[in-house]
Amino acid sequence: MSGAPRPLAGIASYHAHVYFDGPAQRAAAATIRDQVAERFAVQLGRWHEQPVGPHVLAMYQIAFAVEVFPQLVPWLMLNRQGLSILVHPNTGAQYDDHLVHALWLGTPLPIKGDVLPRGAGEGSGAIDPVTPNTAPRLEP
Ligand code: ZN
Repeated sequence: MSGAPRPLAGIASYHAHVYFDGPAQRAAAATIRDQVAERFAVQLGRWHEQPVGPHVLAMYQIAFAVEVFPQLVPWLMLNRQGLSILVHPNTGAQYDDHLVHALWLGTPLPIKGDVLPRGAGEGSGAIDPVTPNTAPRLEP
């Protein structure tokens, strides 16, 4: 954590993970998902009804390009309906991306760091490009 600062160019894209616990929160997550799809060019991931990978609650992922961040993240701040959302960069170092460089909207949740590869280059490989699968028609 010392030396020259890391350049922004190291961030290839971002994820927002929208967590939910129980039917009411799942309904809120569905509303947010629809509202995001109407407003932003993002790649909506599938629903994970059970915890998967480092995540301790059910969730879905929103993958988005760097230039979408200054619109989507403030929108999620205002419209998260009490849900916890993890926003993390994709730099190729999964452990650091989730546990060191991430930010939380709402109440932070644990992240199972032991299932994530540590260090840049180790288990990182290529970062999937964001291919938007939404067709926004509303202004944020
Ligand atoms: Zn992610």
